[in-house]
Amino acid sequence: MVRIPKHRVRFDFDPRAVPCAEAESGEVVSFSCQDCYSGQIAYDGFPFSQVDMARNNPATGPLYIRNALPGDILRVEILGIELEDSGCMTAREGVGTYEIKGTHCRVFPLENGYGLFDRGIRVPLRPMVGVAGTAPAAGSVSTQEPGRHGGNLDIKDLGEGAILYLPVEVEGALLSMGDIHAVQGDGETVICALEVPGTVRVRIDVLKGRNDIPLPFILTPDKYISIAADPSLDICSVKAARIMHGFLSSHSGLSPEQCGMLLSLAGNLRISQIVNPLKGCVMEFPRGLAGESFQA
Ligand code: CA
Ligand code: CA
Repeated sequence: MVRIPKHRVRFDFDPRAVPCAEAESGEVVSFSCQDCYSGQIAYDGFPFSQVDMARNNPATGPLYIRNALPGDILRVEILGIELEDSGCMTAREGVGTYEIKGTHCRVFPLENGYGLFDRGIRVPLRPMVGVAGTAPAAGSVSTQEPGRHGGNLDIKDLGEGAILYLPVEVEGALLSMGDIHAVQGDGETVICALEVPGTVRVRIDVLKGRNDIPLPFILTPDKYISIAADPSLDICSVKAARIMHGFLSSHSGLSPEQCGMLLSLAGNLRISQIVNPLKGCVMEFPRGLAGESFQA
């Protein structure tokens, strides 16, 4: 198994980045990841003024995948996410959704599948990957941004058993991932989730000659999930719904109006996050409901 250690990080997705490891299609790769603050929040109550935000959102990589060529699709199946034993959060004045005074850095222990919050509140963990993406064809995209390349998606469904489909825009694809969340709610409203260092184990496959998958896209054991990013939530929500509509139309043989009606009955349009530079929406639809044919 290819292992990438947690000090091999970048803060962007860039076609000129020098790969730190290589893998074949079909291989299992483990990415050790720092938390989104690069491990700087050393203890509960740590002063935020000492956190260097230039080191925010490190992504481990990039990984060069042999035989991945522009136009291919990278299929990234999450086999497992191992967490370290505590996570951190911040709540900060002037960012996120709420009117919070001051800045607050917190560390919460993880124990037996729960995050131990204040006042004895135990939050069930649901580990997921916040950042996963490939290099764009040109230019450089910050690891803060979600987009067609994947990136800072912050979709809570991207956990163990999920498959993420990403575009290959450059030779080798240059996959990086990081920003593990022990648990995150839809919206990620305070500005962060329960941020935790850990290890993500993925199986990577290069798909050739496929043009039937919108990118990026998620498949879970029971759902299809379309992904959209836009500065406007209004526009973003419509984009996510229309991507799923296109997907269902092309895989079910149902007419556009039938797909629209069925999505209105059984599709869930959700806000994935409202705190990144581009906001995120997803639409989920249950696998198998429409008798659709889709080769995962
Ligand atoms: Ca994130
Ligand atoms: Ca995060």
